[in-house]
Amino acid sequence: AKSSGRNNFQFYAKEMNAQTGERLSLERDLWQALGNDELFLVYQPQINLHTGEITGVEALLRWKHPKRGMISPLDFISMAECNGLIIPIGTWVLMTACKQILQLQREGLPLLRVAVNLSARQLGEKDFVQTVRDTMDAAGFDPRYLELEVTESMVMHNIEEVVGVLGALNEMGIQISLDDFGTGFSSLAYLKRFPIDRLKIDQSFIFNCDTDPDDAIIAQTIIALARGLKIKVIAEGIEKAEHLAFLKQNGCDEGQGYFISCPLVFDDLRAMLIARQKH
Ligand code: C2E
Ligand code: CA
Ligand code: CA
Ligand code: CA
Repeated sequence: AKSSGRNNFQFYAKEMNAQTGERLSLERDLWQALGNDELFLVYQPQINLHTGEITGVEALLRWKHPKRGMISPLDFISMAECNGLIIPIGTWVLMTACKQILQLQREGLPLLRVAVNLSARQLGEKDFVQTVRDTMDAAGFDPRYLELEVTESMVMHNIEEVVGVLGALNEMGIQISLDDFGTGFSSLAYLKRFPIDRLKIDQSFIFNCDTDPDDAIIAQTIIALARGLKIKVIAEGIEKAEHLAFLKQNGCDEGQGYFISCPLVFDDLRAMLIARQKH
């Protein structure tokens, strides 16, 4: 038993080294990814569930690694948070999203609301509000068409500060949405203090909303809460007609998900908007 334990340990240590090495090389690669144009955005349409019209898009980050291929944001955002790279990456995301959405409008398509995901580290940066303002100015983007997505866990630290930052952004006309709603540890009382324009029901409650009564009641309760507070509510993770029907019937304003559209590369987003304009 002793020797097998040792073998296990050696195996484990070796495995760990391999993992650490891999992480370090990935970290090194990420530093270069920005400069090498390996990062790009995809856009997932969001629709008004009652009219079917496109109300906005959510910008989602992608990394096409030259050797490893596509790497999910779930696999590199937390690393970028740790080493601080999320700051330049986050600014790049904001600038790129605004420029591309504006580009569509220049081509004669309607101006869409664009939702950009923030990370905790960005929100905590001293000059974050100024960075956003400078980016909007440089891109020539109307802040009323920008939405910033924050999560409950991000806003629960340094509440006073976050209230100030979100308030300043909101003053500029930027909309704030609370992402992954229902999965964090927030006190509902905080909803009153933050200038939130939209609650985003987490996809984990949507996947079985048509079959699991617990998920159904949670989704219904979030919708009722948003309505009572007079803020908009959007559902993510709509994968089936049944999800869409449930949400529509229960008064959810907007939605996104694979059943409506996958996240699209810029050219496909443009093509989709053009096709929809034709009829
Ligand atoms: P999120 O903000 O909750 O984004 C929703 C995720 O669900 C996206 O994954 C999206 O592609 C996926 N999704 C959309 N519709 C469906 C559906 O019908 N079914 C299922 N199963 N999934 C669906 P993605 O693009 O892999 O992004 C994962 C997470 O990475 C995001 O979760 C967000 O937290 C983070 N992220 C993505 N882009 C950025 C960014 O630019 N900045 C920051 N800070 N985080 C980002
Ligand atoms: Ca999001
Ligand atoms: Ca989400
Ligand atoms: Ca507001």
